[in-house]
Amino acid sequence: MDWILPLLLSLSCAAGVPLSRAASGQRNRLLLISFDGFRWDYDRDVETPHLDQLGREGVRAKYISPPMLTMTSPSHFTTISGRWVEDHEVVHNMMYNAKTNLKLPHQKTLTRSEWWDNGVLPLWITAQNQGLKTGSFYFPGGAVNYGGQAVNRVVVEDPRPANETEWKQNIDTVLSWFSEEDFHLVTLYFGEPDRVGHQKGPDHPDRKTMIRLIDRTIGYLRESIARLHLSDSLNVILTSDHGMTTVKKRPEVEELVLNKYLNLVKLNSFEILDYGGFGILTPRPGKEQDVFDALSKAPNLTVYKKNEFPESFHLAKSKRLPPIVVVADLGFNLNSRFIVYVNKGDHGFHNSEMDMKTIFWAVGPDFKKNFLSEPFDSIHIYPLMCKVLQIDPAPHNGSLSVTEKLLLLHGGCQRYRVSVALLLTLLCSLALI
Ligand SMILES: [Zn+2]
Repeated sequence: MDWILPLLLSLSCAAGVPLSRAASGQRNRLLLISFDGFRWDYDRDVETPHLDQLGREGVRAKYISPPMLTMTSPSHFTTISGRWVEDHEVVHNMMYNAKTNLKLPHQKTLTRSEWWDNGVLPLWITAQNQGLKTGSFYFPGGAVNYGGQAVNRVVVEDPRPANETEWKQNIDTVLSWFSEEDFHLVTLYFGEPDRVGHQKGPDHPDRKTMIRLIDRTIGYLRESIARLHLSDSLNVILTSDHGMTTVKKRPEVEELVLNKYLNLVKLNSFEILDYGGFGILTPRPGKEQDVFDALSKAPNLTVYKKNEFPESFHLAKSKRLPPIVVVADLGFNLNSRFIVYVNKGDHGFHNSEMDMKTIFWAVGPDFKKNFLSEPFDSIHIYPLMCKVLQIDPAPHNGSLSVTEKLLLLHGGCQRYRVSVALLLTLLCSLALI
């Protein structure tokens, strides 16, 4: 039986990773971080030693694709729920009601459950229902109730521009929830580099300065994780909601003014325009075809009837979206009547545009080292997070098979492990015979 030991050793080595903490009764924790509007290539023209190190010590995706719509609230809620926008119905950063003409800005929506809670459970609640402790620091959708349930610990986003000292304090707070209070999942959100991307444009030197600040913040996060002895138990996913593109202005282009093509007041009862490249309109009764035909004549945009969306948009089932949706060509703003729009950068454009693609890094005990992943859709982050937290996912549209290859111990390995264990038992019985 001299052959048994080498065989067993080679089988164990083939499995390649230490036994899961699940087997020893311990559960690794997860910190999900989002830096809003971090385009996939923002670290290519700036020195980012800490992000580079993150890639060497963990996993990086070449880029990831946000869902349609490439906006903060819709995209974040897809990440945290694993559902397409047509299912979770957070269809805009603004809360609106086309019947009453109510329009609330993004900041005001953050504590309004009726905008977020449409029957889809985000990860915080699903995790809590399985006995885990969760927290949300500034994260969109974290500060409301779902079916009457709140996230265990919530800090609502402070809309003031943040600075480096505050960012460090926020990291200290979140890490103390793990080190002192045994939280399992915390989501942490930063409003940059979205803000600078809008104000100055993605090519402005201030955007590069912001990426350097973010890089230092990641350095501080990783130092703090090590100092608090969390490196062996805390996984970190670093991602974002969408990219950013330069807004095209006169005289380079003819800017779009939609009222030139249709009489907005006469034909529409509700609209959200002047909000970058994505616009929604509710035609007056019987005017839907007129609005569609008029907008179809406008250049540099695509107009859709809601029920004729391409399937890849995953928007057609939405009850909240009005009958007409307009997506401008990359960089064009949908001005309604006048050009009052001041942003130099924006998003909300088609998610197939490279400028709308965003980032994904992950590091920690459950992730591979120095692994560069092919691009994937952000919707597949949800099942990955459930796997890392060892919880049963709620119904979702993601696929673990897309993202589990980022893990050291993925499904295939676990199944293999079972067969190794069976083989071991068999061989041991043989040895005894
Ligand atoms: Zn933005």
